[in-house]
Amino acid sequence: MAPFTHSYSEKVNVTNCDREPIHIIARAQAHGVILVCDKHSLKITQCSENVEELLGFELKGILSKKLSQVIPSAQAERLQQKISSNETLLPEEIQINDVKFFLIPHLSGENLIIDFEPFGESIDPILFQEQLTKILGELGNTGSIKEMCQQAVSLVKYLFDYDRVMMYHFDEEWNGEVVAEVREEGMESWLGLHYPATDIPKPAREIFMKQGVRIISDVNYRPSPIYPELSPINNEPLDISGSELRGVSPIHIEYLQNMKVGASLTAAIILNGKLWGLLACHHNSPKFINYHQRQSCKFLTQVLSNKLALKNTNTFLKKIKESEKIRKELVMQMNSIADIVAALVKYKPRFTDLIECSGGAIYRNGKICLSGSTPSEEEVMNLILNFLGDRKEKVFQTKSLKKVYAPAEVFKDKASGILSVRLGEEKQDYVIWFRTEATKSVSWGGNPEKNGYVKNGVEYLSPRKSFERWTQKVSGVAKAWESFDIEAAQNLRDSITHVVVKKQKDEIDDLNRNLSDANAELETFSYSVSHDLRAPLRGIDGYARILKDNYQEKLDAYGQNAINTILGSAEKMEELIEDILSYSKVGQTKLVKQVFSLQNLVEEIIASQSLETQYPKTKVNMNDLPKITGDRRMIKQLMANLLENAFKYSSGSQQPEVVIGCESVGGENIFYVKDNGIGFNPEHQDRIFDVFSRLAGEEYSGTGVGLAIAKRVVEKHEGSIWVETKPGLGSAFFFTLKEE
Ligand code: ADP
Repeated sequence: MAPFTHSYSEKVNVTNCDREPIHIIARAQAHGVILVCDKHSLKITQCSENVEELLGFELKGILSKKLSQVIPSAQAERLQQKISSNETLLPEEIQINDVKFFLIPHLSGENLIIDFEPFGESIDPILFQEQLTKILGELGNTGSIKEMCQQAVSLVKYLFDYDRVMMYHFDEEWNGEVVAEVREEGMESWLGLHYPATDIPKPAREIFMKQGVRIISDVNYRPSPIYPELSPINNEPLDISGSELRGVSPIHIEYLQNMKVGASLTAAIILNGKLWGLLACHHNSPKFINYHQRQSCKFLTQVLSNKLALKNTNTFLKKIKESEKIRKELVMQMNSIADIVAALVKYKPRFTDLIECSGGAIYRNGKICLSGSTPSEEEVMNLILNFLGDRKEKVFQTKSLKKVYAPAEVFKDKASGILSVRLGEEKQDYVIWFRTEATKSVSWGGNPEKNGYVKNGVEYLSPRKSFERWTQKVSGVAKAWESFDIEAAQNLRDSITHVVVKKQKDEIDDLNRNLSDANAELETFSYSVSHDLRAPLRGIDGYARILKDNYQEKLDAYGQNAINTILGSAEKMEELIEDILSYSKVGQTKLVKQVFSLQNLVEEIIASQSLETQYPKTKVNMNDLPKITGDRRMIKQLMANLLENAFKYSSGSQQPEVVIGCESVGGENIFYVKDNGIGFNPEHQDRIFDVFSRLAGEEYSGTGVGLAIAKRVVEKHEGSIWVETKPGLGSAFFFTLKEE
């Protein structure tokens, strides 16, 4: 059987390398055996071809056996028990044909996959203990992240003695940089070199996250195929991503061979659930470290991950504390200066002091205000209108704007990186921070662009052949924005929104206060004017009466008519003044609430205004009215106006009828006065409650103030009033009162 007759491989090209199916590579590394059983029956279903060489069982023969015929039956039984009770499967030491192995089991779907690994050098438990203590003791908390990584690589070199030990750190785009390194004398340094994301593609990164530590004991090994390739249980490729012995992707092998690496060990550094970097060890010749040693290495990377996470958290907290201090000062400035933009730009500290940047811009109410080194006003305006305005996210950040917004190429020296926050929902106001270009050059481990070859028009991924330092001039890239920068920007945005809302509220409160002062003044004014008008009016009326009584016969018909007109107008004016006075009185008088019978009140009004005598044709229909709580005098004005209107505007009907009643809807009393009179066009149903608003013609007397008084009374009682009407069919006025 040829070693490469797999459904995997061959098809990997530049565009799909991120999907290379490395988890189903059906091959084992040469130094151990992968054995697969049905997890229920423990019948052996698949096995790597090197089983004969390493365990002494013939391949075809082992495939008809049960696991208990290969390993001691007590151990097989223990495994079966753990599987059926869902317990974690742990590695064990095992002896087969007098040779010691590590048996490392795990489940993959319906399969139990067992790695048989050479025991390697036996490790004295005390030495192992010492290793762990050394790791704990020597991985310091102090110094920069780079210094911590340097300590870690030195320790790994000391413990496992690989020729080169490096720490890789990934950036946001998964390019790696060597941030720490220890190497044997004579080896060229790779410290500071960058590697493109394609060097460690996504599937490989996912497996690192899952497995933690991975060794390739011999880069030039002959892989041992798993036979049969597809699982007889379900006829599908076997997922061996959890296997310690999983064969290596041919692309990765070629990559390592090109690098002249003989063996490798790689361990994941995971921070807050994300792959932060890799501890990468290279050896010039084959090298194997056993399960226990790999556990020590895993322990080391976990300790380091925790320390790095702690360091990051501490830096984050320190930075946030610093920026909080500045934010609070900015808030004080915004509160004490009317113009928010000036408060952020013209005084110290400025908003640009909040975050490390070269300059910034604030866009508010259609105007731009720049601070520090920035693109021109027009360039910033275009950036907002043509780019930021179209984005959904409220916070946008990039270290290389030109990659997403081509016009930024022109001003990349001023603003390669931007961090922007949008203020408010409907209005598109922004605060933006800019960063200039940071690194002028990046050293790559070989030219990252020369890693493919073209065959039949498709570009295939072929590992780079040269890893020589290859320096690329990088333009338009700024220092990346950190999580604390983004947090500080968001906090400032919240503060600005808060201050703006508070200022708007204060303004509205001021306006309201002014408005109610003005209203009160107007009320007093109209009250006193109406009041003062009464005396001269009484004079006009009195003297006109004297003229009428004593000089009537001396005047001709025209003069007599004039006197009657004066008297009529004076009466009308008296009525008007009366109404205005009652209207302003309702506004100025405090409620004096009491419980009283509405029924009695209505009867009183009808009697006192002699409505029944004035309108003898009108039938009055009064349903039971309840006792209510309210200001009796005011409610009397309300009812009097509604009743008077109902009688007045139905007086011309054939059989005028006025109905007064109350309905309870959802526990609330709705009172009504209905008539079958002239009605009116409902489009005026709100307007008629305004002062001096009249629809009826001259044939109906009135001042247009009655319903305005009614509305005021109802509103004073925290209720509402409305009308349902149709021209010619009558009107129904409804109102509610808040009764407690
Ligand atoms: P007025 O002194 O003119 O009656 P109101 O403020 O009481 O003033 O009413 C305002 C206007 O609303 C009236 O001029 C009239 O056009 C209309 N209106 C009020 N009540 C009725 C009603 N019951 N039927 C028809 N129109 C009415």
